[in-house]
Amino acid sequence: MKKTKLTPALKQYLELKEKYKDAILMFRMGDFYEMFFEDAEIAAKELEIALTSRAFGKSSEKAPMCGVPYHAVETYIAKLVKKGYKVAICEQLEEPKPGKKVVDRGVVRVITPGTYFEDESEDRFLMAVYPSRKSYCVAWTELSTGDLYFTTVDKKGFQSLLSKFRPKEIIVPEGFSDYTGIKEILPEAIIQEKDRSYYEAEKVVSPEVESEGERRALSALLTFIKETQIQFVPKLKAPKRYTGERFIYIDPQTQKNLELVEPLDSRLPQASLLGVLDRTKTGMGKRLLKFWILHPLKEKEEIEKRLNAVEELKESFLVADELREALSKVYDIERLLSKVTSGIANPRDLAALRSSLRVLPQIKELLSNFSSELLSKIYENFDDLYDIFCELERVLVDNPPATSKEGGIIRDGVHDELDELRRIRSEAENIIREIEERERKRTGIASLKVGFNNVFGYYIEVSKPNLHLVPEDYIRKQTLVNAERFITPELKEFEEKVLSAQERIEKLEYQLFTELRSFVSRHSERIAKTAEDIATIDVLLSLAKVAEERGYTKPKITEGYVIKIKDGKHPILEKFLEEDFIPNDTLLTEKEFILVVTGPNMGGKSVFLRQTALITLMAQMGSFVPAKSAEIGVVDRIFSRVGAADNLSRGLSTFMMEMVETANILNNATKKSLVILDEIGRGTSTYDGMSIARAVIEYISGKVGAKTLFATHYHELTELEGKVKGVKNYHVSVEEVDGKVVFTHKVLPGASEKSYGIHVAELAGLPTEVIERAKEILSTLESRERERQKEEEELPLLKVAEKREVRYEEKKEELPSGVRELIEELQKVEISTTTPLE
Ligand code: ADP
Repeated sequence: MKKTKLTPALKQYLELKEKYKDAILMFRMGDFYEMFFEDAEIAAKELEIALTSRAFGKSSEKAPMCGVPYHAVETYIAKLVKKGYKVAICEQLEEPKPGKKVVDRGVVRVITPGTYFEDESEDRFLMAVYPSRKSYCVAWTELSTGDLYFTTVDKKGFQSLLSKFRPKEIIVPEGFSDYTGIKEILPEAIIQEKDRSYYEAEKVVSPEVESEGERRALSALLTFIKETQIQFVPKLKAPKRYTGERFIYIDPQTQKNLELVEPLDSRLPQASLLGVLDRTKTGMGKRLLKFWILHPLKEKEEIEKRLNAVEELKESFLVADELREALSKVYDIERLLSKVTSGIANPRDLAALRSSLRVLPQIKELLSNFSSELLSKIYENFDDLYDIFCELERVLVDNPPATSKEGGIIRDGVHDELDELRRIRSEAENIIREIEERERKRTGIASLKVGFNNVFGYYIEVSKPNLHLVPEDYIRKQTLVNAERFITPELKEFEEKVLSAQERIEKLEYQLFTELRSFVSRHSERIAKTAEDIATIDVLLSLAKVAEERGYTKPKITEGYVIKIKDGKHPILEKFLEEDFIPNDTLLTEKEFILVVTGPNMGGKSVFLRQTALITLMAQMGSFVPAKSAEIGVVDRIFSRVGAADNLSRGLSTFMMEMVETANILNNATKKSLVILDEIGRGTSTYDGMSIARAVIEYISGKVGAKTLFATHYHELTELEGKVKGVKNYHVSVEEVDGKVVFTHKVLPGASEKSYGIHVAELAGLPTEVIERAKEILSTLESRERERQKEEEELPLLKVAEKREVRYEEKKEELPSGVRELIEELQKVEISTTTPLE
């Protein structure tokens, strides 16, 4: 298309589009946002709106286009951004003027998946990373709350941040090569490659930020925000160093396996730990609860502070209930505040903020009842923001509208001129009625009416039968079916006055409103601080409520090694299981720290493992736990390797994953860790699997010393008790009731009955003949195995090798050539003269 032939508007469009190539450009034209060309095609498809086309200029070519009405644009933006698109919003920057061909337009904000802060349904983190040598300097924020964090971590730490915060968008330096880590954990995250200047553009001054790399990561983050949010840059909080060291590291698998924030079974959306513990009243509280779950504490004192606060709230339930009642009136202050500081808050948002602030003095008053350290500290430093509330209350009407440009926002008595204009406006109605009365008398038309519409303004309406009475000075404007409408010079003049008053009112109210918004904005730090306190109180109340309702107990936190749980329950299953949940004990001590749990499938092994991990985690986040009593020696990490149910059918790649995860555990667990291993080695052949399982146990026993729960169906592993330090056998018991197999789900000391498979088959009513035959086969197999073992034990090592060699010669032809070559290569090795290193 030749540019010369284009209409000015399209020319303007193309120029803007050039700058925002990778975004969908929404181009404001009157009451619509229009999209053209490829953007239109994408939008039409994704938004399910009609694609049309329009000729531009003299050329006969037509451009595909589609549009959305301005008042509904929010919904459409939400849809596009959630699908991963960027949207550039282009506004008219001036009122259309007669004589000027095209109004000035400009992009006022680019909304990207990581900066879409109006989204209330989920957290949208934006992250920037700056790799330096072997470490990663990382900065991230959530625009809707203004939280701004940074830290320096190694690769694992980086991956952990990714899985904890799940950023929607990640800024990386150009040429950054390490996508693999990101893509594995967050396949849908958008990666923004930015050149070096991005990392230097913003000067970050904060005593917290010590390294150049961190400064750069923060700079990239802030630059990106400025560049996209243009006229709507929200104020972020001061950067906070993310002190992962305070917290237990929860890796992505463990987070998933233990269903910390999301259930494995999506049919039960509440069936996660978050779902069970969430009785929060505010958005801030809910976000903080999620943070606490994913960041259990390591410090005994810190954990105890929370537990003591929960305990006090649980005991003072009357005050606690009043607090909950008050909190239920608090809106999401953090998100409202972001809207305020970025300048997108509308009058209704300020009213929501005002309702939230209204209850703060009462909350403070209620807090004075507590004496636990955490709560009294919050009370002492609590800013109830009363001055801000008073200002909002003074200026803003009780129920303001959602739009800021149509008046109806500011109270009477706030501004003299506004009051005066409003008086004129309200008198207009009386004056109109006077005119109406007078004209009726003058014309003798009793049904004559004075009305108003947006097209003609004020008019006089006369019904058809009375038209002959219309005086000469009436000017005809419109014909309806039964009537005609007229105007008069007097009416026009009056209209002018009223309309200009209205216009002036709207302008003034808008101005006063933005002043009020800026006033609030200036106090954003105070408000943010109070919001944080509210979140903490909300979470503590939530934990107290759940503890009370579900009969949880306060765990005893120690710095020792022991974990001792009496009548523990799985917090999620216990709530959602239709039958009664059978409580079980866990005892992990320095003498018995590897529990080998055997028993039939569906016996309850996994559940037992997970409940131990969950109870430990709950205790360390400061929650009461589902148990009669619990003593928890704080752990530094919780590892889990839990096989998916369909592990076997998914074959080798799953086994590979299983081994990678197991390797990770063995390499990183310490004596203070809690390790949960469920059915290790199941993804491969029995002997392979069993050997690996056994070697893993031996390694943990000798080298790691971590508290470990090991569920397995390899009965052979029960032989390790007494031979390998720390190993203690447990089993899930099975009973026969009225000839039926019943899983009692009771975990008891000792190995399970050896042939529980056959036992279960018997209970299930397989014909006696089959059972007898199975027992026979089993015993032959077992005696053969014993013989083989004895043989090998008796033979010296070289003999075994020789014997294997003979076997190898016999079987050689059946082997694949690669394996054959490898074996032959190995055979050439002269063992007696080879050093261990070789
Ligand atoms: P396993 O790991 O031994 O194959 P699971 O731990 O997965 O078995 O448990 C199987 C099912 O048994 C669970 O889904 C649950 O319905 C039930 N179950 C397990 N433990 C208990 C318990 N302590 N009380 C009640 N039901 C249980």
